[in-house]
Amino acid sequence: MTDHTFDLVVLGGGSGGYAAALRAAELGRSVALVEKDKIGGTCLHRGCIPTKALLHAAEVADTARDASAIGIRASFEGIDPGGVRAYREGIVAKKYKGLEGLVKARGITVVHGEGRLESGPAVRVGDDLYRGTDVILATGSYSRTLPGLEIGGRILTSEHALELDEIPGRVVILGGGVIGVEFASVWRSFGAEVTIVEALDHLVPNEDIALSKALERAFRRRGIQYSLGVRFQSATQTADAVTVTLEDGTTFEADHLLVAVGRGPMTGGLGYEETGVTIDRGFVITDERLRTGVDHVWAVGDIVPGLQLAHRGFQQGIFVAEEIAGLDPVLIPDAQIPKVTYSHPEVASVGLTEAQASEAHGADGVVAYEYNLAGNGKSEIIGTGGLVKVVRAKAGAVLGVHLIGDRVGELITEGQLAVGWEAHPEDIAPFIHAHPTQSEALGEAFLALAGKPLHAL
Ligand SMILES: Cc1cc2nc3c(=O)[nH]c(=O)nc-3n(C[C@H](O)[C@H](O)[C@H](O)COP(=O)(O)OP(=O)(O)OC[C@H]3O[C@@H](n4cnc5c(N)ncnc54)[C@H](O)[C@@H]3O)c2cc1C
Repeated sequence: MTDHTFDLVVLGGGSGGYAAALRAAELGRSVALVEKDKIGGTCLHRGCIPTKALLHAAEVADTARDASAIGIRASFEGIDPGGVRAYREGIVAKKYKGLEGLVKARGITVVHGEGRLESGPAVRVGDDLYRGTDVILATGSYSRTLPGLEIGGRILTSEHALELDEIPGRVVILGGGVIGVEFASVWRSFGAEVTIVEALDHLVPNEDIALSKALERAFRRRGIQYSLGVRFQSATQTADAVTVTLEDGTTFEADHLLVAVGRGPMTGGLGYEETGVTIDRGFVITDERLRTGVDHVWAVGDIVPGLQLAHRGFQQGIFVAEEIAGLDPVLIPDAQIPKVTYSHPEVASVGLTEAQASEAHGADGVVAYEYNLAGNGKSEIIGTGGLVKVVRAKAGAVLGVHLIGDRVGELITEGQLAVGWEAHPEDIAPFIHAHPTQSEALGEAFLALAGKPLHAL
């Protein structure tokens, strides 16, 4: 057995873990990063990056298909799954190489192998023990399924869906959250018949109801079917098809069933509980500064209850590295973290929904304004509809910004600044938005809430 000593040992090299390692190394700490697979984790290899590459390929397919509508002669001849795979894998490979180079350049020791937490604190990898003055747990998450619903054959998780070499003819997607909606969007653009089954009453049920309803309308127009408010009961598969039955007896038959019902924390069997780390329903419970109950053991990313997003992992990793270094950093609360669903159309939000704001401030204490993208020149040019909804406290700060429409994900940063800085619409309305841009729609909403609408009543 060999003992190694570092200032910081990070268990898990995904978004949360590698961000912590990079920042700690930048601050002069010696760092070991333990990873059993590939640094970059879910986001780089099986999540954000490959799915967004697929969504871009889907957008190009739609553009080619609809080109004649804007006077361009192009013909859409179909999808080449091998070509799409090569494009997607090329992007991931380049980003992976870049990340490996960065980690090396910062002098971080990457330990390849499966780690387990031990007291000390330390992480054991095989016969080697990596002792850290501090240890950060960042082991991420896995695709969950429902009780009795076994993954395999025609029943897929998002990891399997990415590896599919054919475009399914018919697909049922269990779960109308971000992952389900993104795959629905891709497969529809690739020509599949798609049905989403969501037990709650709306698609993207965590978003403001205005966005859910607008997405449902847009998906209906695209021919994406969905069943809302009825729970899944069972799925059976044969050599040719999978049949999905809902609790009300409705059945759907498809080539594949994608199970997209959320992600569970990867914390079992890793020595966490034995070492004294508090676990609740699989998640690591921390205080508001991401300390676990065990001295010098911290947790970041998807294993910490809250939004499971890569950029939340990045900020938590950076935060803990700076906290250890005594820099007294500020942790951005989940409510101020932007969320984007990269479907066609995109859905983006930050802050409180109108319902949440009304609960917090009373219905009379909140004003909401919706600006329809039909009034926005750039949106008209690129052929997208949608809306911008801004929620403010009456005579007070912007509490939430909610957007739907193609490309609106790029606009959410401005919403984040408004919400994070608790800006009043009157303060930000004077800032000018370049014309013609989609960002003008946000400007119009701020102007209207400040009592001086320009292109609206
Ligand atoms: C299909 C899909 C699409 C997504 N799209 C987006 C998106 O567009 N935007 C966004 O913000 N988020 C997206 N996410 C979520 C994002 O991927 C996660 O929030 C993010 O990866 C979480 O980072 P993490 O560091 O907590 O965990 P992970 O990225 O899961 O990394 C954990 C790492 O720990 C390693 N590990 C686990 N156990 C051990 C062990 N015992 N020893 C050694 N190593 C171990 C794993 O191999 C893994 O590399 C998506 C997720 C999926 C599945």
